[in-house]
Amino acid sequence: MNVQSYALGKWITGEDGDVVRNAVTGEPVAQVSSRGLDFAAMLDYGRRVGGPALRKLTFHKRALKMKALAQYLLARKESYYELSTATGATRSDSWIDIEGGIGTLFTYSSRGRRELPNETFLVDGAPEMLSRQGTFVGVHICTPIEGVAVHIDAFNFPCWGMLEKISVTLLAGVPAIVKPATQTCYLAERMFRDIIASEIFPEGSLQLICGSVGDLFDHLKAQDSVTFTGSAFTGRKLRQHPAVVRNSVRFTLEADSLNFSLLGPDAKPGAPEFDLFVKEVVREMTVKAGQKCTAIRRAFTPREIIPALVDALREHLAKVVIGDPAAEGVTMGPLASLSQRNEVRERVRELCQGAEIVYGTLDGFKPVAADSEHGAFLSPILLHCSDPKSHLDVHRIEAFGPVSTLMPYDSIEDAIELIRMGEGSLVGSLFTFDNEFARELVLGVACFHGRLLIVNRDCARESTGHGSPLPNLIHGGPGRAGGGEEMGGMRGVMHYLQRTALQGSPETLTRISRRWITGSARHTEVHPFRKSLEDLDLGDCVVAGPRTVTLEDIEHFASFTGDKFYAHMDEAAAKANPFFGARVAHGYFIVSLAAGLFVDPHPGPVLANYGIDNLRFLSPVFPGDALTVALTCKQKNPRVTENYGEVRWDSVVTNQDGKIVAQYDVLTMVQKGTQPEPVPAAVHAGEGVAA
Ligand code: NAP
Repeated sequence: MNVQSYALGKWITGEDGDVVRNAVTGEPVAQVSSRGLDFAAMLDYGRRVGGPALRKLTFHKRALKMKALAQYLLARKESYYELSTATGATRSDSWIDIEGGIGTLFTYSSRGRRELPNETFLVDGAPEMLSRQGTFVGVHICTPIEGVAVHIDAFNFPCWGMLEKISVTLLAGVPAIVKPATQTCYLAERMFRDIIASEIFPEGSLQLICGSVGDLFDHLKAQDSVTFTGSAFTGRKLRQHPAVVRNSVRFTLEADSLNFSLLGPDAKPGAPEFDLFVKEVVREMTVKAGQKCTAIRRAFTPREIIPALVDALREHLAKVVIGDPAAEGVTMGPLASLSQRNEVRERVRELCQGAEIVYGTLDGFKPVAADSEHGAFLSPILLHCSDPKSHLDVHRIEAFGPVSTLMPYDSIEDAIELIRMGEGSLVGSLFTFDNEFARELVLGVACFHGRLLIVNRDCARESTGHGSPLPNLIHGGPGRAGGGEEMGGMRGVMHYLQRTALQGSPETLTRISRRWITGSARHTEVHPFRKSLEDLDLGDCVVAGPRTVTLEDIEHFASFTGDKFYAHMDEAAAKANPFFGARVAHGYFIVSLAAGLFVDPHPGPVLANYGIDNLRFLSPVFPGDALTVALTCKQKNPRVTENYGEVRWDSVVTNQDGKIVAQYDVLTMVQKGTQPEPVPAAVHAGEGVAA
């Protein structure tokens, strides 16, 4: 089978393909080459065709397309599973890759619609007041970069690697060129074919390179970006490419690292945390045959526990069934290729300079339903290093396979020092039921890590585990791990948006940012609750009041809500209070009273109040104070698929002296005057989707 690339709207077969082999049988699976592709033209096509088409869509429209795409791929998942066994993956390894990747698309689709506006750009943070009179203000906006995102992936997760990266770029509105690792690109290509066939995203949004990237890096420009996942060696080389340096191309590097896991001193044999640690180390050694950037490479334990731990790990490792992932009962498949196995063996030999193998063998075992001459099988290898401060290789050499090194520590200071010798990792985990120990260790090593997992008997059952990056949390780590950061909810999307500070008058910045800023015009002719979402304009306002607050009001509120806090009810105690000096009205009464003033009670386009943001009580309200409220339309967010949208209102309550007593944003749903727009077809089509 000739694996193809997708460039300039066409599927293209490269010249003189290199043979890629099945990890289980050694048989050829595919021929791969990108020779003949015009890489400069691909970048240009993405910038010229894909970028503008994506940027025309709002965040919500892109997010809906992502959901449609996720459903489309999920309906075809079995064809990916079938091909995935050739990479050496078991069914559960493939689940992480295939459904984990599709799940990331789903997550970003739903978070994008919840957390981003239905706009083509984003306002970041609150306005900054830059002048005394309030006529000159600042605001930050974030707009999509206008280049191409080049995504280079490692061989271990061909689907997840591609999907986790395109999830954020598509949502941001940036076209991508995906370059999977040659060894497993046939699986990425299979899924990519479906992405293109679905026609869900506009042409030019996504292109694919199977094979080398040729001279692509020479043509990178200032608005382009690169995310690289792979070895630190290749990553560093690419980050120093002259075009990357010259044009300040955004570069995210996700490299390898010597991730740790540590057993706390409280977790003696028999404690639940001891058993959990043993299971996690074995799981991390064997899932995906240890070919995970997040796998546990260094396992630390109190010195006196080592013998018991070695016994427990041996017992669990002996249950691992290695063989053809398609065969019944197999729990660990081969490495991705014979050359990868040679590489791992070589690294283990280097590690053996300062450590001894306490479980496993570098050769000489019989895999189930396969042979280890043609398939890249390797047994799990557990090493023990008794003096990890003298043998620095155990903190430096990554054997990218089912390999982990067990090491002792003598005190918490010792443990922190040893962990930090990894010089920056993607993830670390800690197994302890002692929260004080956990706190001290976490604060001692956090700045060397992108993610830390603390496991105990309370959370173990629902824990997502040491090795699983999640779309909600950042993935990446400092130093040796590359210094990159991916995903992490909207943090990942922000990498593809340029933040720009705008300065000007409130009215100008209100019109540009589409968020009303204090000091801009207000229009009070029509009560804004009488206007549909389309008719409502930023600055539409109702000013209502004054209403005088009486002692009877306060006592009534206290008696029917039950809130009889002394500051409202006890004159002497309130007098002694450093903030009040007398009885004051309840803050929640002020908010309720304000609603009583600004609400238009009749049925109309305002459908519901769904919350309040940023509520602050700024001055006390005493009996006799007269309150006025100004409610101003601050931001509109129409939903694509519904006949309503969210409206955020600026609410300011002042007293008779014009002093602000309370300030907050009121959040409501407001009906449109027109019908919703049609939704991308596959969102409703479903096509037998299980999700
Ligand atoms: P690699 O050799 O660095 O390759 C990674 C990717 O870079 C592949 O797509 C490869 O393409 C491409 N590449 C290699 N040389 C290139 C060049 N000169 N220009 C442009 N692209 C180039 O790493 P690997 O051995 O495949 O992957 C295993 C390593 O990745 C491990 O060290 C592991 O820790 C790390 N990893 C890190 C993460 C993470 O998220 N931090 C995730 C997974 C893996 P070809 O295949 O075509 O050479």
